[in-house]
Amino acid sequence: PVRVRIAPSPTGEPHVGTAYIALFNYLFAKKNGGEFILRIEDTDATRSTPEFEQKVLDALKWCGLTWSEGPDIGGPYGPYRQSDRKDTYLPFVEQIVSNGHGFRCFCTPERLAEMRDAQRAAGKPPKYDGRCLTLSAEEVTTRMAAGEPTVVRMKIPTEGSCKFTDGVYGDVDIPWDAVDMQVLLKADGMPTYHMANVVDDHMMKITHVARGEEWLSSVPKHILIYQYLGLEPPVFMHLSLMRNHDKSKLSKRKNPTSISYYTALGYLPEALMNFLGLFFIQISEGEELLSMEELAAKFDPENLSKAGAIFDIQKLDWLNGRWIREKLSEDEFAGRVLAWAMENDRLKEGLKLSQSRITKLGELPDLAGFLLKSDLGLDASAFAKVKSTPEELVEIFNTVQPDLEKILEWNVETIEAELRAIADRMGKKLKVVVAPLFVAMSGSSRSLPLFDSMAILGRSVVRQRLKLAAQ
Ligand code: ATP
Ligand code: GLU
Repeated sequence: PVRVRIAPSPTGEPHVGTAYIALFNYLFAKKNGGEFILRIEDTDATRSTPEFEQKVLDALKWCGLTWSEGPDIGGPYGPYRQSDRKDTYLPFVEQIVSNGHGFRCFCTPERLAEMRDAQRAAGKPPKYDGRCLTLSAEEVTTRMAAGEPTVVRMKIPTEGSCKFTDGVYGDVDIPWDAVDMQVLLKADGMPTYHMANVVDDHMMKITHVARGEEWLSSVPKHILIYQYLGLEPPVFMHLSLMRNHDKSKLSKRKNPTSISYYTALGYLPEALMNFLGLFFIQISEGEELLSMEELAAKFDPENLSKAGAIFDIQKLDWLNGRWIREKLSEDEFAGRVLAWAMENDRLKEGLKLSQSRITKLGELPDLAGFLLKSDLGLDASAFAKVKSTPEELVEIFNTVQPDLEKILEWNVETIEAELRAIADRMGKKLKVVVAPLFVAMSGSSRSLPLFDSMAILGRSVVRQRLKLAAQ
């Protein structure tokens, strides 16, 4: 029986890319009468949090992508969270080491950094140089007994290449020379992604691994781990990443990518799934509006959309509009709007800021509506009341936008501090810098407090609005 999975790492706001990969797997399971399961990959303990994990679960549920096994509901092959499976991986690592396919490495982070710098300087891609490959068994025992930090790395063949057939890419051939001696077990006893991923896909009886193409180059390592363990690898399918019109990768550094952004703006989950699903099917013009059931019926992984996965926001808007107009009854529409408002965190934050600034509820849309829009549709006239010249405005936007990227943690305090620092550096009064930002963010010079608004809008929307304003 077909068993597929989505395996998100809870290290940030749930990503539309995760929904895209999850949808492929979900449809694949549906089409084949198989199971779609959810596994949380939190081996990176420093970046994973329970809050992000909860958000991933909520976001995928909002999308309508329900799983039959997962950390919240259990299942026959649980636990479904890697941090709860720590002990599961050790015997597999042991097996690899005792069969001579893995080795202990004691190289310090400093030594590895020096090695990589030297390799880069020589124009070579950084790769472990194999220094610890030749340590004797006695030396390893002594150093481990002395408590020296150590990791386990996998050995890589020195000649030839790894050949495999990817369900999407077809035949792939990657020379072993391009493959690093991957760490399998970290110094803290946690497996790396590669080790845990392979062991779990095996133990959870995953038959097909469908994921983003950024993992294609990891397949040789994975195939080798399966071989070292005497296991049969699953079928791999690597999906093209979603891209902008300029072919750049849709990424959180460039685009609003969090699913919660699309929820807050009032995209319907059906429309978002419809939009993402069109990447996986071939249809003729006029057939675009499709429910999950219809997507599953038309889904054919042998025949993925040839157009590539261009994230065309206008197409998403068009589909969303059609879903609202054509697929919802009046009552359903009203119900959706009310439920959306009740659950909308952006709106809630906006209301907190609005309460002391209105005399009638009807003023709310004008005051806080900018928080819920993707595009404010501003032109130069919007800035007419701001006292700076057009050249000064461009200078302000072009300085503020990159400088705000320096903020590590995006919140009211850090935004305010950075804007004050920017004004200082520009030799301008804070007021002069802030006045045009008000308009760029909210479309109006009389609006909710700026720093709070920017915190609510989020980094990527602020970036987008500043870039638009600078044009
Ligand atoms: P960065 O800007 O750091 O490259 P990112 O936007 O690529 O970040 P990640 O946090 O690396 O986001 O990825 C989160 C998940 O979303 C991963 O599972 C990844 O495969 C998927 N993903 C990220 N970008 C895309 C994309 N453009 N298309 C499809 N899936 C993506
Ligand atoms: N945890 C990985 C991710 O977030 C999963 C990759 C895979 O599916 O193997 O992308």
